Amino acid sequence: MGLVVQKYGGSSVADAEGIKRVAKRIVEAKKNGHQVVVVVSAMGDTTDELIDLAEQVSPMPAGREFDMLLTAGERISMALLAMAIKNLGHEAQSFTGSQAGVITDSVHNKARIIDVTPGRIRTALDEGNIAIVAGFQGVSQDKKDITTLGRGGSDTTAVALAAALDAEVCEIYTDVDGVFTADPRVVKKAKKIDWISFEDMLELAASGSKVLLHRCVEYARRYNIPIHVRSSFSGLQGTWVSNEPTGDKVEQAIISGVAHDTSEAKITVVGVPDKPGEAAAIFRAVADAEINIDMIVQNVSAASTGLTDISFTLPKAEGRKAIDALEKAKGDIGFDSLRYDDQIGKISLVGAGMKTNPGVTADFFRALSDAGVNIELISTSEIRISVVTRADDVNEAVRAVHSAFGLDSDSDEAVVYGGTGR
Ligand code: ADP
Ligand code: ASP
Ligand code: MG
Repeated sequence: MGLVVQKYGGSSVADAEGIKRVAKRIVEAKKNGHQVVVVVSAMGDTTDELIDLAEQVSPMPAGREFDMLLTAGERISMALLAMAIKNLGHEAQSFTGSQAGVITDSVHNKARIIDVTPGRIRTALDEGNIAIVAGFQGVSQDKKDITTLGRGGSDTTAVALAAALDAEVCEIYTDVDGVFTADPRVVKKAKKIDWISFEDMLELAASGSKVLLHRCVEYARRYNIPIHVRSSFSGLQGTWVSNEPTGDKVEQAIISGVAHDTSEAKITVVGVPDKPGEAAAIFRAVADAEINIDMIVQNVSAASTGLTDISFTLPKAEGRKAIDALEKAKGDIGFDSLRYDDQIGKISLVGAGMKTNPGVTADFFRALSDAGVNIELISTSEIRISVVTRADDVNEAVRAVHSAFGLDSDSDEAVVYGGTGR
């Protein structure tokens, strides 16, 4: 029996009962002969509540102190979980990210893991303990400040520890039975996927399927760590994410699923002179503010004016910063005005089979038009098509596309065991 890393998300440890339930499950794994490392998120919506609190004392909380605040959530759950395990007669020790050896760069609020040195975790395991690690946090290599890895970052902590400890598997326990063909909160007829490739999972995660964080899948692919996504509320097998299919009957589907995302906003730069260097200047200003953008579209310029509009999407949370950066550079870039629209949503269809099956794009657009959904922006990769629509249309559009591609389950409804979907 080898070492397993288990990660429990916030909805699995939302209250004292949840913590006791999870503790029992962890003890089972230990009794089955495994060495067990547990990564735990903050209880329920604690992180959101801490953010709300910070916003009441400062309009745009950020940086070092914000990280100090947010890491408190995971410290609470790790200590309570260790206590609950001890109460069941087993030894457990909790560790902060820093104590567990999670070393990051120094970009506060979205730090990247650059090294993992889990010496203390190894020692704790060798002494017979279950090791509990606070997810979503680390310590910066240069300044030794506490950092966080960005929302949902506990998934990345778990995979990074699994890689550093050479674990057999990284189990991600959440409030649904695995990865589904769409978010079960939106599509009741979504189907559980038994196996999905890293490649397709990466696209789903990048397109908004928050069941796994994009960076965590990237990390797992790089170190070839199989991930098992499953529910902490049921004993069912979940979804395996790995390089090669598990089980003999599992084949790669043409379409893996439909993802949606309502966390982005759209900025339109109006009246940009249609000459070389303009787009470069706009996106340099945005990049210098350390903002990642997603989709871009440039309209044809009006012949009479020689002016064009450029629209792009970005995380809502970065909207203010992007507008400020562009306003500051307005004189140099030369444009008329900026428009900000946060009532948008993105729908993506993902599947490696797209590469070899013509007509997928046409069917996707047909399904959207049949549902009366207007498309505002389009982007594609080899295995994904994404469109931006009005936010109000997103749920309907996801259901329409899911049905049109024959993904609807004809048996049971997908179960959502907990969480608030926040
Ligand atoms: P945790 O607190 O365990 O980290 P998250 O809320 O981050 O849980 O992720 C689980 C949620 O992801 C589910 O409750 C579900 O609403 C959402 N989700 C979005 N897309 C999918 C999908 N394709 N399959 C399963 N869950 C999905
Ligand atoms: N607690 C953090 C969040 O809510 C990290 C995580 O749960 O993965 O984003
Ligand atoms: Mg999560």
